[in-house]
Amino acid sequence: MSTPLYDPFDFDGLLTPEQRALRGQVRDFMETAVKPAINDYWERAEIALDLALGLGKLPIMGGTMQGHGCAGLDSVSDGLVKYEVCRVDGSISTIFGVHSGLAMGSIGLLGSKEQQERWLPAMARMVRLGAFALTEPERGSDAAHVLTTARQVGQHYVLNGRKRWIGNGTIADLIIVWARDEGGRFGGFVLEDPAQLPGFTATAMTGKISKRAVHQAEITLDEVHVPVANRLANCNSFRDLARVLALGRAGVAWEAVGLAAGCYEIALDYACRREQFGKPIASFQLVQAKLVEMAADLAQSQLMVWRLAELMEAGTETAGQLSLAKQSCAAKARRAAALAREILGANGILLDHHAARLFTDVEATYTYEGTNEINLLIAGRELTGIGAFV
Ligand SMILES: Cc1cc2nc3c(=O)[nH]c(=O)nc-3n(C[C@H](O)[C@H](O)[C@H](O)COP(=O)(O)OP(=O)(O)OC[C@H]3O[C@@H](n4cnc5c(N)ncnc54)[C@H](O)[C@@H]3O)c2cc1C
Repeated sequence: MSTPLYDPFDFDGLLTPEQRALRGQVRDFMETAVKPAINDYWERAEIALDLALGLGKLPIMGGTMQGHGCAGLDSVSDGLVKYEVCRVDGSISTIFGVHSGLAMGSIGLLGSKEQQERWLPAMARMVRLGAFALTEPERGSDAAHVLTTARQVGQHYVLNGRKRWIGNGTIADLIIVWARDEGGRFGGFVLEDPAQLPGFTATAMTGKISKRAVHQAEITLDEVHVPVANRLANCNSFRDLARVLALGRAGVAWEAVGLAAGCYEIALDYACRREQFGKPIASFQLVQAKLVEMAADLAQSQLMVWRLAELMEAGTETAGQLSLAKQSCAAKARRAAALAREILGANGILLDHHAARLFTDVEATYTYEGTNEINLLIAGRELTGIGAFV
């Protein structure tokens, strides 16, 4: 039997030597430091922060952002980092994505030069961890209408409200809270060392079946005082934040492709090794059909995110393309995870073989950064010119 084909459409051939080298660095870290240890964290539902902090030593933090210690990567390299992290684990991917993508990205895109210099260098070294608090108990997809308020009193804003599902929210050194001021203007308010702020509480959500090695927080803000200087200077409306969210969608699309690649590799490897009826299960036509389906989906997603990165590099990507990529890649990743779990038989529901963890993690990927439906609607609006939101 020849070596199994892990890269079905020569995705590797699209990459430059520098991109391959960076990918190799991240893959080494994920395979050697994370993979052997992550299942125990997942099973205990313990945040794998010590593992995730190892990413801070790699030249990847802040993605494509330049200056203030950020990595200044090209868009393909930035995507490959997310791909490689999620190829091995979804929880680490979320700790990293919330910190480097959503939190640093908000400051980078919407902060003043002074705010960027104040917060980004320590975040780029991962010595200060970020969180991004938009979702509320009553505002999920309808995030533009958050209920959290920011009332100005002298040199402070006083925040009141509740947030939910906030990744890194129990441990972050900086939390960007999204709220509306008395004039109804939307804004981002940076809470520094939030655990020490009177009126702030964050509790880890329990009973979660996906991404169990990262904690999401329920946050209560009861008259929390934030200095006026901590309001992100260049955010005036939800439209401004939508730019951060749209870029986040590209990241989650790459994350989904990485997860699908991980599932495909696990399934292919297992199918070639596992014998039933005297031969490898990979020799059965029905198993081959599943593997080919996974390979085709993977290749399509790889080509889509690679092209998206090219468009982003040229600065011509559209909101519809970003949503289309997130929706399509996450839906394909969900199918890959289900097929991998199926090909592994009973072993598919055991953590030991790594498919089970990815199988549950993909459910969160499918839902966050805009649910499947919301991204379909954004893409559909761009394709038809007709908005179908209710
Ligand atoms: C693991 C995880 C991590 C997260 N991390 C963060 C974080 O760090 N920070 C943060 O702010 N948020 C975070 N979120 C929240 C996430 O962004 C929301 O879950 C998401 O926006 C969807 O909101 P919801 O879950 O309240 O679903 P809802 O908005 O209540 O939607 C429920 C269902 O209704 C559908 N639906 C809603 N509106 C429409 C419509 N107009 N047309 C058709 N269908 C519709 C949805 O697609 C979905 O299927 C995280 C979520 C998860 C699961």
